[in-house]
Amino acid sequence: MTTIAPALADPPTTNPPVAADGLTLLAGDRVLIDRADLRLEAGAVLALTGGAGAGKTLLLRALAGLPLPGVAQAGQAHVDGRRLLIAQGGRMAPQRPLALQAADVIGHHLGLDTSAALRRMADALDRMGVPAAARRFDLPPDRLPDSLRWAALFALAIAVGPAVLLTDAPAAGLDPTVRLRLLHRLADWARESAVALIVAGRPEDGLDGPADQRLALHGGRLLPTPADPTPLPAPNPARGRAGTEVMTARSVTVSFPLGVSPTGEERRLTVVHPLDLDLADGETLVLLGETGSGKAMLARALLHLPPPTKGHVAWMGRDLAKADAAGMRRIRRDLQPLFPDPAAALDPAMTVGGQLATVLESLRPEIPADRRAHRVADALRAVGLSADTATRWPATLNPPEAARVGLARALIPEPRALVCDEPLATLSAEERADFWDDLLTARDRRRLPVILTTERVEEGLRHADRALVLLMGRVVESGDADALLHHARHPYTQAMLSAARGEAPALDGDAPSALRPPDGCALRLRCPKARSFCAQAVPALEQVAPGHQVACHYWDTP
Ligand code: SF4
Repeated sequence: MTTIAPALADPPTTNPPVAADGLTLLAGDRVLIDRADLRLEAGAVLALTGGAGAGKTLLLRALAGLPLPGVAQAGQAHVDGRRLLIAQGGRMAPQRPLALQAADVIGHHLGLDTSAALRRMADALDRMGVPAAARRFDLPPDRLPDSLRWAALFALAIAVGPAVLLTDAPAAGLDPTVRLRLLHRLADWARESAVALIVAGRPEDGLDGPADQRLALHGGRLLPTPADPTPLPAPNPARGRAGTEVMTARSVTVSFPLGVSPTGEERRLTVVHPLDLDLADGETLVLLGETGSGKAMLARALLHLPPPTKGHVAWMGRDLAKADAAGMRRIRRDLQPLFPDPAAALDPAMTVGGQLATVLESLRPEIPADRRAHRVADALRAVGLSADTATRWPATLNPPEAARVGLARALIPEPRALVCDEPLATLSAEERADFWDDLLTARDRRRLPVILTTERVEEGLRHADRALVLLMGRVVESGDADALLHHARHPYTQAMLSAARGEAPALDGDAPSALRPPDGCALRLRCPKARSFCAQAVPALEQVAPGHQVACHYWDTP
């Protein structure tokens, strides 16, 4: 699929730039899109949402005049003026320098020479907020950071000056703070330039935030988006924490060798700076942060998978570093992990039942072999799967089933805590809601303490008792989940919450490279409140309310 569809310059009419009347798409006798009606005026922004396979791509391609082979069309679709389609994945020629691609595309559409095309591209990059210093026209897209590649693709579309811009899963894969910043900029440009813009994606992508109109595809029908399609649960009710600490981590540090400097010193990349953490019995602690914040490394260090570079983790008062083989086996049984991609964590060469039985054999050897099949069936039923799932191979599981099998595998040795690293990352919003139900049911029934990492800040806070927010390996805010949800003090937490709600985050730019962190506060190059002092000292955590700590020099400054 080409990234940007050919320009179709139609004569101006009084029709809205985008209109569909009873648009129906069929594959043979199967109805894919059923009598879709749609009107989008110039300068309006439409969020088109739907789950995987809902038909968003089909509808966009039909509007772009690029129907898929084998798909028949009935009803009417009108798109007036120059239309562009940014296809899923935002593909550009990966190896061709950006300048040459910009000159080709802008020159083709507008008949400009190379220097005029590049000036236009530079103006469009301004619109997308890409500072001049960050522009790398000489590089091909596959050597640009993802955020810059998406910004360049949007800028290319802006430079062409379409009347209608159709975008399929725009800026997918970026951190929410970065994605929402780009999408709000794109929407602002569309409104100011009288461009009809459609942004299509999953309900949980936050596309409603930048949009003026909202439609959802469900079962082939195009319908107004419900006010809250996947309502988030009410904040976690106080569940009577016992207060007994079951896990303590002190000065936990994770770093990796980077080689030896010219002066012979060992250089290291620190991804988790020394931090302390406590987990109480029955408590759910969520570790929040963008990609690269160190939350996953911290979760793994707590499990000694691998052990932290420095510092200590103790479970029930026992230092994991000092446990002998038998002690470590007991700790492994007590502390069960859940990994980001449950399907990938399963052995493809063993049935589901075989894998669960192996966990039992290893961690609960006292259970007789002839009882294992019963235990496996019980564990599968406890997470909403049928007992005969035991006979299935991992490759036959869909993502929600794989996630449930992962949960069953974690629960079958009857652990005393779960440490979950983004276990819901591969699931849609609806699937995540179901999985949360299973996880919380297991947690509450067994009174399990849970540590969970997620970049879905609002979702994490609503399910947790307490939260740590990590930025480049340091805790920048911690406290009760409800306090952070409603009274976050750190600009980074506030920006992630804004993005989760579809609002434009106040942060500029991308997270800096861990190899070249800025002096002082790690947020200062992106922070709207940054002052010169922020470059001079790394802010320390200070108490701003009982149980609520923030690491920001200016947390109390508006
Ligand atoms: S210390 Fe400065 S740069 Fe860091 S979050 Fe606070 S105001 Fe922003």
